[in-house]
Amino acid sequence: MTTDTYAPEKWFNRQRALNCVEALKKNGFTAYFAETSEEAKKLVMSEIPEKSTVTVGLGGSVTVRELGLPEALQAAGHTVLDHWDASKSPAERAAARDAQVTADVFLSSSNALTEAGALVNSDGSGNRVASMIFGPKISIVVCGYNKLVKGIPEAMERIYRYAAPVNYKRLNLDTPCQKAIDCSQCSPKSCRVTTIIEAPPLGKKKFVVVVVNEKLGF
Ligand code: SF4
Repeated sequence: MTTDTYAPEKWFNRQRALNCVEALKKNGFTAYFAETSEEAKKLVMSEIPEKSTVTVGLGGSVTVRELGLPEALQAAGHTVLDHWDASKSPAERAAARDAQVTADVFLSSSNALTEAGALVNSDGSGNRVASMIFGPKISIVVCGYNKLVKGIPEAMERIYRYAAPVNYKRLNLDTPCQKAIDCSQCSPKSCRVTTIIEAPPLGKKKFVVVVVNEKLGF
């Protein structure tokens, strides 16, 4: 008998993540499994071209910040476009968000990742999903095992019944789901733009997905 109570859970999440990585590869993504956050961070950094002129847009993602990627990218000399950077003025943050759409690389997480290897995301303004799909020639997505779901219905369930309420709470926004999860009370809907990426969009040089055997983000 194992002495690590959580070893079976780790094993289960690893198997599920590995299966998802295989599905993503079949769909044309460059996909990797990482056992730890540290491994995931190294994989992400290895996918950023080593040119001093590279600009990297950061999506609104707790996962990306948990991995310490903004600091690592800056330390590597890249130009980081981060609209969450609290040291910047509101105007500078807005400009960073606009510029993400034309960055060389766009780095984010995903609200959900299906077993068949599709990425499902919902945005209020659409800046994150737009930059994932169009503009930057390289998209990189990093997801903890907690983002894995069976299929598209479960992805939507995860977004509306977990990711959105928690994220809007984090932003201190008084959406209806702060009291009861009933999107019919949300008018106009705050989750306005939803995308399903089933394969790398045409025109992308590379679309990388890293699935990590750790809980990351919401
Ligand atoms: S109530 Fe509004 S903000 Fe909350 S999950 Fe539904 S659409 Fe999104």
